[in-house]
Amino acid sequence: MARYTGPVCRFCRREGTKLFLKGERCMTDKCAFERKGYAPGQHGQRRAKVSEYGSQLREKQKVKRVYGVLERQFRLTFKRSVAERGVTSDIFFRNLELRLDNVVYRMGFARSRNEGRQVVRHNHVLINGKRCNIPSARLKIGDVVALAEKSSKKTQFQLAGELFARRLGLQWFQVDHAKGTGKIVSNPTRDDIQLPVKERLIVELYSK
Ligand code: SF4
Repeated sequence: MARYTGPVCRFCRREGTKLFLKGERCMTDKCAFERKGYAPGQHGQRRAKVSEYGSQLREKQKVKRVYGVLERQFRLTFKRSVAERGVTSDIFFRNLELRLDNVVYRMGFARSRNEGRQVVRHNHVLINGKRCNIPSARLKIGDVVALAEKSSKKTQFQLAGELFARRLGLQWFQVDHAKGTGKIVSNPTRDDIQLPVKERLIVELYSK
């Protein structure tokens, strides 16, 4: 599956908020948004009037960039969410949150979603005892995510685990960093996602 491989700090600058795409670096004063908190490019410091479509587009791009998903897959996830019963925006965020690369990141086995994706692609992850290298694989309640035996001893994963310990409040999974395993115990809710996004605008954009 295709993925974006270019610079990512420009996304935070474009969206006017920190999207935390680079793990530890985002917490330091090397963060590009801290140093240049305006949009990238020649006209980045100009004040532009934003149309209704413009604000819908920005909200959509923000979420897409946070989860590292390209347009086609993002739209497909939305389409599938519409087909499910319930509030579309809640289901949409739940489906994004339950992607394997995101779960690996949330559980603390990676320092960013991008790294989570790489961990999955490099065959370090098992779902219910079976290797899975598909970052977009959708998990469900009861699924157990585990690092492959050799991988769980690597410093990279231990570091990520320590970082995770500082992330607070997520109740929808249980994780054991010593064993390198985690289990999904409930569906993530909108509050768990902790993303300052007006989801209504995304629904409006895709409903046109
Ligand atoms: Fe965004 Fe992180 Fe880059 Fe800062 S360091 S601009 S938060 S990706």
